[in-house]
Amino acid sequence: MNYYNSIIETIGNTPLVKLNKVTKGIRGTILAKVEYFNPGNSVKDRIAIRMIEDAEARGILKPGGTIIEGTSGNTGMGLALAAIGKGYKCIFTMADKQSQEKIDILRAVGAEVVVCPTNVAPDDPRSYYSVAKKLNRDIPNSLYPNQYDNPANTAAHYETTGPEIWRDTDGKITHFAAGVGTGGTICGTSKFLKEQNPTVVSVGLDTYGSVFKKYKETGQFDEGEIYPYLTEGIGEDILPQNVDFSVIDHFVKVTDKDAAIMARRLSREEGLFVGWSCGTAVHGALEWAKENLTDDDVLVILLPDHGTRYLAKIYNDTWMKDHGFLEDRAFKTARDIIH
Ligand code: PMP
Repeated sequence: MNYYNSIIETIGNTPLVKLNKVTKGIRGTILAKVEYFNPGNSVKDRIAIRMIEDAEARGILKPGGTIIEGTSGNTGMGLALAAIGKGYKCIFTMADKQSQEKIDILRAVGAEVVVCPTNVAPDDPRSYYSVAKKLNRDIPNSLYPNQYDNPANTAAHYETTGPEIWRDTDGKITHFAAGVGTGGTICGTSKFLKEQNPTVVSVGLDTYGSVFKKYKETGQFDEGEIYPYLTEGIGEDILPQNVDFSVIDHFVKVTDKDAAIMARRLSREEGLFVGWSCGTAVHGALEWAKENLTDDDVLVILLPDHGTRYLAKIYNDTWMKDHGFLEDRAFKTARDIIH
């Protein structure tokens, strides 16, 4: 019989899929690593199980314990799936800008969700970082994995994402691109790939309103770079310990609008029904590729999650129009033409 002992065993080994339409006019082979094939529909399943097993091995998570994490939703889903099999409770703190779908999904798999205000400083007691830390202090036998600073996050990508890409490209990858939130994905993967071939170039995608690009280029933590933005899961107003700037060669910033439009193009033109930050990753990586790729290059762009989590936002035409992301003419439907 061919079966898995639990859903956890199905994490990883996601496919590489060639992008054919949105890459028109760009040289080289451009492949997407499609992380929505993970059981929680995102790349974060990889780090969730790795952080839990690391805490178990170190004796800081014991049977019957409670896992508490600040999450934009995807890490919560991964932790919740792993917790079910292992018998832990989960409490997640989330910023109120995150999609309602993400909150509903976490509750559907049995987690408790505490929604916190988005536009407060990270050290404000109301922020989702501070509330997670307080719950961890007050609840006995609780674990706060803290994906931002936990080395098991980067390690998960060093041990799985990097080796899978190296194996599936037969070592031919020349460029790797991924959005940067905690930094785990890009840094763990890039570190592994650069160890195999030091000429592999790593491109980090950042958002307007986030500090990463400026910090890489000037070494300054510039608070002037911090302002509200809408894209979920990438960009930060802090410097997580998992961001190792020495393995990220370049940063490209992408607007909320360009990211949303590219995510919709990936769905309609490539059949890849992906999340908002996947649009950031592809838009930014292709902008960079236009100037820098040659015919022999192989660029892998990591797509973190699935489009279902953004149905009420970027996949809703009214929402898109309300945010100035769609022109009116995009609303011409069959009905408009008939009448
Ligand atoms: N996109 C989405 C949707 C995410 O949830 C995350 C994780 N915050 C990222 C991108 C960025 O990945 P990482 O945290 O590994 O940098």
